[in-house]
Amino acid sequence: MAYITLKTPTSESHINIGFEFTEFKTQIGKSQVVIITDSNINSIYGSQFSEFKVIEIKPGEKSKSLEIIGDIYKHLLDCHIDRNGLIIGIGGGVVCDITGFVATTYFRGIRFGFVATTLLAQVDAAIGGKNGVNFQSFKNIIGTINQPDFVYCDPKMLDSLPDEQYRCGMAEAIKTSLTRNNKLFDFIDENKELIISKEYSVLQKLIYDSVKIKVSIVEADEIEKGARKILNLGHTFAHAIESKTGMQHGEAVSIGVCKAADISLKLGFLADEENKRIRELFKGFGLPTEFKFDFEELLPAILHDKKKDEQIINYILLNGIGKPVIMKFHYNELKKIF
Ligand code: NAD
Ligand code: ZN
Repeated sequence: MAYITLKTPTSESHINIGFEFTEFKTQIGKSQVVIITDSNINSIYGSQFSEFKVIEIKPGEKSKSLEIIGDIYKHLLDCHIDRNGLIIGIGGGVVCDITGFVATTYFRGIRFGFVATTLLAQVDAAIGGKNGVNFQSFKNIIGTINQPDFVYCDPKMLDSLPDEQYRCGMAEAIKTSLTRNNKLFDFIDENKELIISKEYSVLQKLIYDSVKIKVSIVEADEIEKGARKILNLGHTFAHAIESKTGMQHGEAVSIGVCKAADISLKLGFLADEENKRIRELFKGFGLPTEFKFDFEELLPAILHDKKKDEQIINYILLNGIGKPVIMKFHYNELKKIF
């Protein structure tokens, strides 16, 4: 069991790793509590939080819409939740993104916390305060940055997670490992089999180290003016591929990071050996590393990506494993490189 505190100038977020998820009940105090979860999680774990009011959404990315946000506000009003309320999102990245956005905007902001139930949410989506929904065909363009009061990451909950979702979480963990020295990358590489078999102590270390890296980056640059951009490694293309094809976020991240590694190799930043290691690691977890796409076709999605600064695209390359660099390309340059 371990705690990590994420401190920003205006908040403290307490992240609990390796605790039974039902420990979230110790955080409630006298608040009126509403839980937001999706129907899959509710059917598996709902009996363990049946004493609370529950708002259930449909699983999946489609729920990240303003329409669903509107429905949730209505439920909160029906439940007489006011500014003293507490909303707890129990779920994966979709539930966390929705819960964070709802709690930040309802009554101009009420307390909230997460129980992260997917590996992707435990190593990434539940940490760092970004929330939001999709709009038209654009991913995550409506949202805020606001830290949850608490996060619980219980590795045992991953036992019920479908393999495909587990793989997707590994894509974000590998991405994170590429942004800070090579210790976590080597750990993942050396413990592949144990991670695949969900060995508890290995999983706990994987989650702890990933969270620790993300927390230190977010503490240095919460609102993504600079350093936090490195966490977008692979995401410019991932978001574009995702919105075009409906592919899972983690799979698209795997492809996006491999593309960034390829370009880093082409531009002489990354050694051939390192590029191969990165690709092999994603493949080792059954993640896709290639996707044939037409740059022109993805361009509108890339230029509407929130990382766009006019026609200049911030693109994260690798100067080596664990050595990200933020590059700025005009989209014509990027097109040429492709
Ligand atoms: P998800 O929330 O859709 O969950 C994936 C599926 O697994 C769902 O069907 C869900 O019902 C099911 N599930 C969740 N936990 C389970 C469990 N313990 N047992 C059985 N089934 C379970 O997907 P995700 O991959 O967790 O999150 C993806 C989302 O996260 C994307 O929308 C992405 O944009 C967002 N994201 C946000 C951030 C951020 O910083 N805010 C970072 C990364 C990703
Ligand atoms: Zn991501």
